[in-house]
Amino acid sequence: MRYISTRGTAPILTFGQAMMTGLARDGGLYVPQVVPQFTKADFAALAGKSYEDIAYGVMKPFMGDTFTDDEFRDLIAKAYAGFGHPARAPLKQLASNHFLLELFHGPTLAFKDFAMQLIGQMMQAALGKTGERITIVGATSGDTGSAAMEAFRGLANVDVFILFPHGRVSDVQRRQMTTPLESNVHALAMDGSFDDAQARVKDMFNDFAFRDGVRLAGVNSINWARVLAQVVYYVSSALSLGAPHRPVSFTVPTGNFGDVFAGYIARSMGLPIEKLVIATNQNDILDRALRAGRYAMDGVKPSISPSMDIQISSNFERALFDAYGRDGAAVAGLMALMKDGGFEIADAALRSLRGTFASGRCSEDETLATITRTFAQTGELLCPHGAVGVKVAEEHLGDVPMITLATAHPAKFPDAVEQAVGFRPALPLRMADLFERPERVTRVPNDLGALQSLVRERIAS
Ligand SMILES: *Cc1c(COP(=O)(O)O)cnc(C)c1O
Repeated sequence: MRYISTRGTAPILTFGQAMMTGLARDGGLYVPQVVPQFTKADFAALAGKSYEDIAYGVMKPFMGDTFTDDEFRDLIAKAYAGFGHPARAPLKQLASNHFLLELFHGPTLAFKDFAMQLIGQMMQAALGKTGERITIVGATSGDTGSAAMEAFRGLANVDVFILFPHGRVSDVQRRQMTTPLESNVHALAMDGSFDDAQARVKDMFNDFAFRDGVRLAGVNSINWARVLAQVVYYVSSALSLGAPHRPVSFTVPTGNFGDVFAGYIARSMGLPIEKLVIATNQNDILDRALRAGRYAMDGVKPSISPSMDIQISSNFERALFDAYGRDGAAVAGLMALMKDGGFEIADAALRSLRGTFASGRCSEDETLATITRTFAQTGELLCPHGAVGVKVAEEHLGDVPMITLATAHPAKFPDAVEQAVGFRPALPLRMADLFERPERVTRVPNDLGALQSLVRERIAS
């Protein structure tokens, strides 16, 4: 099993190498050279199995010999042991042909735990064999950073530094980053905005002497291993509703396109998915691109579903690569046009994308109204991201069962939920003491040199 870059000129890598590399050297994203094909019988054999067994069956063909079978089963078991629901990704019914896939039972209450918990285990296992250490540095507007710290806390061969904009993440998100006590995870509250934090992380990756000196690695959403881990719940939920004998559709609240691209991979493997519906908030670059054929940036408008507030959707490049017949030079050409603000998608590529994806957009008022209405009708309390999904899904219901991804727990976004239903949702019991735990955080300036010194000092001690 080999991985190639969407821009066609980076080295071809194994699964383990692609996981450690993240962004390809040519600026592209790694994708499988050939997507493994599952027959109906292959999928049917997984029906009724545990989430962990399905995870093993789905991911193993993508991984080559990075891990032995027993090792990989053990890593999966460890990754999902901390989830607060035995089904890991349970389905709930909202209407006769509409289902909600709850992806918020992990330790930080958002779907990012599915991938981050597993990548933490896999990176540690790979590094443990050679004794190497790596340093992970990331910027977060909230969910990714908390998921990363929770996943890597206490692992022997990894140090994690998460930069978040001081004063601009929710109390729950901040406390999830500042309360882990293990000395290998470091929460850094930086003066400035999320964009500033992300820019400083980029600077660290572009400083090759620093990058090589501390063995910098990334776990942001373009990492192929994260995409792969997310393929599993598309398969598990489709099997629950009758696949491979009956097709399903999915609606996915989307920001960077990583989650919905995992659905695209499940479909490419042969899972009978009729449509993948992209749901965006008012930051609607993807909805506009699919409707009008022009992929063009527009400034970020802060919303009540902040984990989807993006200017461009980095993983969309992977879908473009296939839509352009896997022509890396063509993709590199398109991406070069982003510095001028955007590009037209060629007719054939647009037809190909529309064959798989549909889309819709949800305004701020519609998001709140959907939380209010869904709670009144079903008793299900949605987070604002899930609400964006439900609203768009309702515009695409048909004969095929629709599964909407609920990407975060409502208690993670209590202000928006309170505005919609008049009360603040409670945290699950297992983390009810979050607000009593002591916090550990370092205030840092928006200054590359100071940040690099801090990272060097901390990993040396
Ligand atoms: C990250 C995130 C999203 C968007 O996921 P992408 O993979 O970037 O499309 C949606 N909802 C929540 C709660 C998130 O944390």
